[in-house]
Amino acid sequence: MFKRKLYCTNCNREVQDGEEIYAKMKAPKNTIMVEIKAYLKKESEIFCTDCLDKVK
Ligand SMILES: [Zn+2]
Repeated sequence: MFKRKLYCTNCNREVQDGEEIYAKMKAPKNTIMVEIKAYLKKESEIFCTDCLDKVK
């Protein structure tokens, strides 16, 4: 799904393949499917499992 490398927003650690992550993002307004990928890149924050408890 994601070809780019993902980094945890909180600790900057590179997320490994297959690792569970959490994405926090604003709900898109009038966004069609082809725009979702670009939207995710721009608007989402990724958290690794280690940091999830800290940012909740
Ligand atoms: Zn983290």
